[in-house]
Amino acid sequence: MGIAEDWAELMFSLDCLSKGHAKRKFRKSIKYGWGGLCCYCRSNRATTLDHVKPKCKGGDSLRSNLLPACQCCNHSKGSQHWLTWFQKQPFYNETAKELIEEWITNKRFIEEELDERSTDNRTEVCFTESAV
Ligand SMILES: [Zn+2]
Repeated sequence: MGIAEDWAELMFSLDCLSKGHAKRKFRKSIKYGWGGLCCYCRSNRATTLDHVKPKCKGGDSLRSNLLPACQCCNHSKGSQHWLTWFQKQPFYNETAKELIEEWITNKRFIEEELDERSTDNRTEVCFTESAV
């Protein structure tokens, strides 16, 4: 079902980014940021990290491009745009959508860019790599 591949890919990316407990801390900080739950359905435990923008479309493995997701959601979503996919789900809700948007756009820092989000071809969101 491709789970192993996703994981291998993810671990590889994170290996490039950092190592050892820094890596674990990085993943934990993402999951804990969402209470350990899948950011989409918010009922299952997040066991995977979903690339908001798929790597095949140039997505990074930085915090703002990673969301904790359960395997079910991660698989179901595949490489679709998260919002396109999310809006079709029975568990879709506005609050979750806003939280996700805040996360991936780093809204606190770049309010003015939010207007552009209807453009699907946006290449960059602002990646703020805070020293953890
Ligand atoms: Zn889920």
